[in-house]
Amino acid sequence: MGSTESDFKRFVFIIIDGAPYEIFKALIENGDLPNIKKHVVDRGSLNKAISTFTSTTGPAFIPFFMGLYPGTANVPGLRWLSKSNFQLPNRFKRPGICSYMGLEGLHFATDLPEGFPTLFDFFSPVSNIYNPITRGCPPAKNLTRWIKPLVYTYGHFSYRWRFVNQLAARYLHRAAKAGDQFIMCLFPAVDAFSHHFSMQASEVMRTYREIDAAIGKLVHILQQANTFEETLIMITSDHGMTDTHTHIDIPRHLDDSGWWCLHYPKIWRQGAVSASMVSGNGMTHLYFKNSSVETGWGERTPFEKLYQMGVISSLIELEGLGFVAGQNETGDIIVQSRTGQGKISYDSQGTDHRTPQNVANSIKCGDSLRFSYEFTGTDPLGYGVRYKNLSSRETLRETYDSPYPDGIVQLWQIFNAERTGDLVLSAESGYDLRARYEIPRHHATHGALIAEHMHIPLATNYPIAAQCIRSVDVFPTVLSLCGHNVSGHHIDGQVVK
Ligand SMILES: [Zn+2]
Repeated sequence: MGSTESDFKRFVFIIIDGAPYEIFKALIENGDLPNIKKHVVDRGSLNKAISTFTSTTGPAFIPFFMGLYPGTANVPGLRWLSKSNFQLPNRFKRPGICSYMGLEGLHFATDLPEGFPTLFDFFSPVSNIYNPITRGCPPAKNLTRWIKPLVYTYGHFSYRWRFVNQLAARYLHRAAKAGDQFIMCLFPAVDAFSHHFSMQASEVMRTYREIDAAIGKLVHILQQANTFEETLIMITSDHGMTDTHTHIDIPRHLDDSGWWCLHYPKIWRQGAVSASMVSGNGMTHLYFKNSSVETGWGERTPFEKLYQMGVISSLIELEGLGFVAGQNETGDIIVQSRTGQGKISYDSQGTDHRTPQNVANSIKCGDSLRFSYEFTGTDPLGYGVRYKNLSSRETLRETYDSPYPDGIVQLWQIFNAERTGDLVLSAESGYDLRARYEIPRHHATHGALIAEHMHIPLATNYPIAAQCIRSVDVFPTVLSLCGHNVSGHHIDGQVVK
């Protein structure tokens, strides 16, 4: 990739946590975000892009910053358990179980695989505001490193998320004035207010308008410095949302069915034979112990065995559960709903995708595989079509506007992670998978594979014509627009134009 006339010298990356595509688009069209419309969308484009599964803050940031799926990076959820490394927690050792909520969030950057660059590695100087992927950012330029735990706790318990956003804007403007080449700014308040109130609550709408004003001021600063024309501005979101009316209590269901279940905060439970690690809270990983030794819970339990155990039939009875997905003995991914079963198979070219070693050795790129999909009964993914030997891009195109966008590749990628559950559950719109211990109680949900959670806005001040864009494509696309070369690094995305 050589220099082109589109080469940008600066990059400002704005993530509005939890902004769904449809809401963002409506706000632009109704004139509610005049600065973003005038300075970004009208000069470039607003695309409907696809996030990743699980569609939640943390895992869904990996595609943007590293061009990798969460499954490739072996960070497949906000919480996970590693069956091969699990032991009951003790004070001195990480027990192979993790939640990035609260203080443990500090582990997030260190859990990412080594040897892969992040966006920060391509620019200097850089600034980071609230984003959890800090690798490659000099600590002194991680502007919120000291205050983030504090203000997040403050915001969480006092609901003063406006203040948290205002601080983000202040840092953003300061970094722009300082002339930083890459500024990453996460605005967390839309997500937080949506969980707390609902997606279209007045607090949420006001937050969007405040972000728009902050963008207006940013543009003014860039114009004053005569660098507006050479700055790439991208505004996106890590996931959409749906309002929640019903909470499904998966751990209690497993307890009552005889599979004593480990879950946050009850991770000290003795004698547990299952675990539920929820993200977002529209998805959860379920793990079943199939080893009697002290350490480790054994290998991934095949779908066939879970079926025989009665786990599958017990789960799919639950109202509001979209599907249960697992991996069969030959490595295919089985998607089960109450009324049908789908099967995702792929030409694995002799690669066993399950082992962490394969992740470390950078597994085969999805773009070199061929995917097939078939189903019996009602198609649980709602495609209603059988696919044979499609490329990753072709499956993306075919399923883009379906109820489960990019479901074939997204389910494939998540099962590449060693830390992924024996089963992955995705909730229907209106439901989540966590009834207890959620303080404050959530009124909006994300994390699932449904369109409302997966469709995200992608606004850029440079036009992108491509109709089908994954969040993993952002990394190579941005670098290409800024004149950097990413060939030679393993990534899951590709440059879109
Ligand atoms: Zn959230």
